[in-house]
Amino acid sequence: MANPHPADTTTTRRTLLAAPLVHIHPPLTEQVQRALADGADLVELRADCIDDSGAIEDFLRAPSRPPCILTLRSAAEGGRFDGTDADRIALMERLGLLIPGYIDVELDTWNRSANLRQKLGLVCDMGGPQPLHALDRPRNRLILSRHDWTGARSDDPGRTIDELLNIQGAIAKAAFTARDATDALRVLAALHARRGTGREMIAIAMGEAGIASRVLAGKFGGFLSFAALDQSAASAPGQLTLRRMGDVYRWNSIRAASRVFGVVGWPVSHSRSPQVHNAGFDAAATDAVYVPLPVEPTQAAFDRFADYVDVHPELDISGLSITIPHKPHALRWLLDRGYEISTFAQRAGAVNTLSRAADGRWRGDNTDGVGAVAALRASLGAAASLAGARAAVLGAGGAARGVAAALLAEGAHVTIYNRTHTAADALSADLGCASQSWEERDRISASIIVNCTSVGMGAAAGESPLPAGALRAGMTVLDTVYSPRRTALLRDAGAAGAAAIEGTEMFLEQAAAQFELWIGQPAPRQAMRQAFEQSWT
Ligand code: NAP
Repeated sequence: MANPHPADTTTTRRTLLAAPLVHIHPPLTEQVQRALADGADLVELRADCIDDSGAIEDFLRAPSRPPCILTLRSAAEGGRFDGTDADRIALMERLGLLIPGYIDVELDTWNRSANLRQKLGLVCDMGGPQPLHALDRPRNRLILSRHDWTGARSDDPGRTIDELLNIQGAIAKAAFTARDATDALRVLAALHARRGTGREMIAIAMGEAGIASRVLAGKFGGFLSFAALDQSAASAPGQLTLRRMGDVYRWNSIRAASRVFGVVGWPVSHSRSPQVHNAGFDAAATDAVYVPLPVEPTQAAFDRFADYVDVHPELDISGLSITIPHKPHALRWLLDRGYEISTFAQRAGAVNTLSRAADGRWRGDNTDGVGAVAALRASLGAAASLAGARAAVLGAGGAARGVAAALLAEGAHVTIYNRTHTAADALSADLGCASQSWEERDRISASIIVNCTSVGMGAAAGESPLPAGALRAGMTVLDTVYSPRRTALLRDAGAAGAAAIEGTEMFLEQAAAQFELWIGQPAPRQAMRQAFEQSWT
C-alpha cells in the first residue's frame, strides 16, 4: 500500500491534525510556523480563500515546509473559487506538480470531469501498479471529499463514506452538518465500523453540535482532523482552534482506548465542564476525554441520543453530565429503560449524572445537592451544622430539586419559592417541605438562601431574583449561577453584610463528585479549580 503520509518520515500511523490557512496575511511561512508550534502536523492551503496562487507557488517551492493539503474548493461546493472548471483543474495540476502532499477535490467534480481525473492522475498516486513512464511522477495523495451542508445525509453518514471509498486509492473525506450531538456520534460510529477496511477516512460533523467528531477523530481512527490557528481562520463551522484542541481536549493523549465523557444540554457552548473535567483526567493520568454534546431540548431528542449511546458501546461513552433542560429527561429515560437511579436522585426527581457500568447498564445520580452542601459548608465552617437551619430555595427546576433534597437530608427546614407557584407546590409536595408564593420572597426570614433560578445569567445577567432589601447581615447566600461569577444577587448580599458564595464553588464540588463516581478515585480538585480559573482568561 502507498505510504499514507508521503511527506512524513515517520512510519507510525496516528491521526493527523491539519490547520487550514485561509488568509494571505501574515505571510504563509509565518502562519505555518505558528500552526506547527500550536500542534498542527500539516496545513491545508485553502487556495480558494487565499486567492494568490503566486504566493502559494512560492511557498510550495520553499525547501523546508511541512506536508500540505492543497484545496481549491469551488463556490458551488461551499468554497470561494469562482473561476471555470478548466481554470481550477489547470491550477490544481500546476500546484500539484510542486508536491504539496495531498490534493483535496470533491467527489462530484471528480465524477463529472474526465479532464480533472486525467490531470490529477498525473500528479496523484492512486495506488495500484504504476506504468514505467510514470514512476517519477509526483506522488501526492488524493483526498476525495463530499460536504453535506444541509444535514440531509447526517442520518446515515456511512452511505456517503462508502460512496467515497468506492474510488480506490483515494482518502475519503465526508463532512456533514450536525443537527445535534447524535449526528456527531453517528459519524464516529461510521468511522469505527469501517476501521477494519484499512482505508483512510476523514469524517466530520460540522457545527457546534459536531465538536465531538473533531476531538474524537483520533480515537476512532480518522485519518485527520482540522483545527484553526484562531477563530478567524476557521474554515468550517464548529472548528476548534489548535490551542483549544491541545490544551482543553488533550488531542495528543487521545487513543483508541480512551474513555469518553461529556456534557449533554442545550446549549452547552457556555459550559466550563470540558475544561474542568479534562484537566481532572489529565491530573489523575486517566485515559479519558470529555466533550460537549448539545442535544435538542426535548424528551424525544434526549431519548434518541441516549438510545443511540446505549446501543453503541463501541463509542466508549462511560459517563455524562446532564444540564438544562435534560435533567428530567434523563430521569424519565432511565425509568423507561429500567435502569438504576440512586435513592437521592429519585428523591430529588432530577438526574445530573449518568454513569455506565462495565456490563453496559446505566445509573443516574444527582451531584448538584452534594455540590451545594459542600459549598455552604466551606463557607459556614466545618463545625457549623445545617441541621435545624432555615433555608430558602429560589426556583423549582432541576437544580432546585437537587439542592432542596440535599438540604433536607442535612436536616435543614426548607421553603421553596418559585415564579410559577404550581411548580413550587409540586416540588414541596415531592420532598415534604414548605413552599411560599414568589411574591413572599421579599420577606424571607431564612438564614440560608440558595438561588436556583436562572435569573442572573444569559439574557437576565445583571438581574437579581431577590430585592436587595430582603438581604441582611448574618445570612449566607449561594447563587448557583456561575456565569457571570459575581452576580447582582451576590453583590447585593455582600453589600448587606451577608456571606456571598459564588456558584463556582458548587460547580466545582458537583464536578468533583461526578469525577469520583466515574473514575472511582478522589478528584484532583486543585487541578480542576485551576482549569476553571484559567477558563475565564
Ligand atoms: P431549569 O430546570 O430550567 O429551572 C429554571 C428555574 O428558574 C425555574 O424554577 C424557573 O421558574 C426559574 N426562572 C427562570 N426564569 C425566571 C425569571 N425570569 N424569574 C424567576 N424565575 C425564573 O434550570 P436548572 O437546571 O434548575 O438551572 C437553574 C440554574 O442553576 C441555572 O442558572 C444553572 O446554571 C444553575 N446551576 C448551577 C449549578 C452549579 O453547579 N453551580 C448546577 C446546576 C444548575 P419557572 O418554574 O417559573 O419557570
